[in-house]
Amino acid sequence: MSNKFPPISAKLPVFMHGADYNPDQWLHDPAVLEEDIRLMKLAHCNVMAVGIFSWATLEPEEGTFRFDWLDNVLDQFAENGIYAWVATPSGARPAWMSQKYPEVLRVAPNRQRNLHGLRHNHCYTSPVYREKVTIMNRELARRYSQHPAVVGWHISNEFGGECHCDYCQEAFRAWLMRKYGSLEALNAAWWTAFWSHTYTDWSQVESPAPHGETMVHGQNLDWRRFVTDQTIDFYKHEIVPLKEANPELPCTANMMDLFEGLDYRKFAEAVDVISWDAYPTWHASDLEAAVGSWFAFNHDLFRSLKRKPFMLMESTPSLTNWQPVSKLKRPGMHRLSSLQAVAHGSDTVQYFQWRKSRGSSEKFHGAVVDHVGHEHTRVFKDVASLGETLSGLTELIGTPVPAEAAVLFDWDNRWAVKDAQGPRNQGIHYEETVMQHYRAMWELGIPTDVVGSGDDFGAYKLIAVPMAYLLREETGKRLEKFVENGGTLLATYWTGIVDENDLCHLGGFPGPLRKTLGIWAEEIEGLHDHDRNGLEMNAGNALGIEGTYEVRELCDLIHAEGASVLGVYESDFYAGRPALTMNAFGRGQAYYLAARVSDPAFYEKLYGRLAADAGVRRALNSALPAGVTAQLRSDGERDYVFVMNFSGTEAEVVLDRVYEDAETGEETSGVMRLPVHGIRLLKRSAL
Ligand SMILES: [Zn+2]
Repeated sequence: MSNKFPPISAKLPVFMHGADYNPDQWLHDPAVLEEDIRLMKLAHCNVMAVGIFSWATLEPEEGTFRFDWLDNVLDQFAENGIYAWVATPSGARPAWMSQKYPEVLRVAPNRQRNLHGLRHNHCYTSPVYREKVTIMNRELARRYSQHPAVVGWHISNEFGGECHCDYCQEAFRAWLMRKYGSLEALNAAWWTAFWSHTYTDWSQVESPAPHGETMVHGQNLDWRRFVTDQTIDFYKHEIVPLKEANPELPCTANMMDLFEGLDYRKFAEAVDVISWDAYPTWHASDLEAAVGSWFAFNHDLFRSLKRKPFMLMESTPSLTNWQPVSKLKRPGMHRLSSLQAVAHGSDTVQYFQWRKSRGSSEKFHGAVVDHVGHEHTRVFKDVASLGETLSGLTELIGTPVPAEAAVLFDWDNRWAVKDAQGPRNQGIHYEETVMQHYRAMWELGIPTDVVGSGDDFGAYKLIAVPMAYLLREETGKRLEKFVENGGTLLATYWTGIVDENDLCHLGGFPGPLRKTLGIWAEEIEGLHDHDRNGLEMNAGNALGIEGTYEVRELCDLIHAEGASVLGVYESDFYAGRPALTMNAFGRGQAYYLAARVSDPAFYEKLYGRLAADAGVRRALNSALPAGVTAQLRSDGERDYVFVMNFSGTEAEVVLDRVYEDAETGEETSGVMRLPVHGIRLLKRSAL
């Protein structure tokens, strides 16, 4: 039986293919809109995101609204079979507003108020800004919530940043009062007896500041949580008039790759559909796999936030203009990069931007339509060709990714582990560590979810827990249950160190997982960049991995408390002590990797074996060359296998059965050749 999700919009139940479109920059030349519509159809584009930064055009003076131009754009779209995500314009403000109401301007951590300029430069708490947003969004909703061309709302743009104004300080204190109830509880959670930081009145509590408090870890953590909550509160405030006018239209807020400032897992609860903006820096070296696996991780993360298909809201059709070097996409890369998003669960491919602006900071950012103004460009042809491909893949819409493996990744752990002042302040490399583990699964073609502490672990057979420094008692219990019920867990060094308040677990690390892992981590050593140790696998160990693997940066000195020792340290005063262990617990196994092994081959061997033992499904039961991955979407009746070549060279894969090519309908089996940047989409009956 098919387990597909409904399409993102019932109005447009096909792949959405399109771009951010800024017709307000071209109102002086009405011929541009007419030409754009001709070009959109030529490029097989069926959706545009309009009005993202249009406030000054929509409300040129306070209370004076001008919607005629947007009416015209949307009416023209409707006549031509093009749909729109209409944006609320709150990502940037008109100058009159900043001038008349300075309180809308953001205040920096040093308590200095910004001047007017840039974008995303506003306070999320300011009553005036919130009121102006409500007035604007009510007008937009009144005019467009029933418009035939409109498929949903694009709320603001790339939310991010924080404000330290008086309104925000008040809101922070109110947030803390709600969370802790009393100052005593706050002082206890923040361990404020340290350095006499005890608060005796709520009014003394402020946000962290470079010239003020920065050393209370619990406070830093709560401030970041507050910033997330306040941003979500602003988002919810934005959508009230939109939902009142038409509750059926989905709302989304475009997110950014592994953005650190907001806990997207919390934000995900507030949006109807996840959308995100992906800007890979391809061609930095011959091997594209590092970039490919990083973006695969992000796609998996964004899909996992709601465990359903997401939107690629922005990507560049050619180059960016804000990275240190902006390379052009080599032939084939546009197709590979775009379909990679689809492989991981995206039901859209959208770009920034449709037409290059003529001036200002994004005039050289890639666009479907270049300054030359016509369709006879390499980029336009790439886009049109991809549009044609997507129009033939409608059956994929709503198809889930059936992951049986997961990597744990929490924002508050990410914040806390970097704030810790621990064994390596010159680079704790949390994200890189997560990627070491994820990449091995990517190279093996294992469909993988990226989960948070609060997610249900029951659907998985294998969970990787790299550096879960902040680990709640409750999460520990749930991971224990997971192993007890037959799951395979792999945790690493620097896991289970602090609780949700950033207070150390007492009674031995790794705190809540000590029993499950069957070890005690007594000490951790930070290594200098030039230091090396080794992980020496024991002869005849249960994993069947042989040899010695280089270790860098972090070494946990552990005691096996019931776990079997699979490998030991090679040198230094702790030579011979356990470095890799396995604890049989309940019906499952819990592995502990005590040191940061640097060789990717080790992780591939490790996860290859763990996945095989746990019976974790791979997309393809074939050997995959380095840099070639396979990913899977399945509706329960049909499996769609995407084989993608990020190796930078030609590659061959021996197929494990007979497939149908999803694009050509031809039968495919045996040796499949992939050109440089090649991708093939194969179909089989669901396994
Ligand atoms: Zn503020």
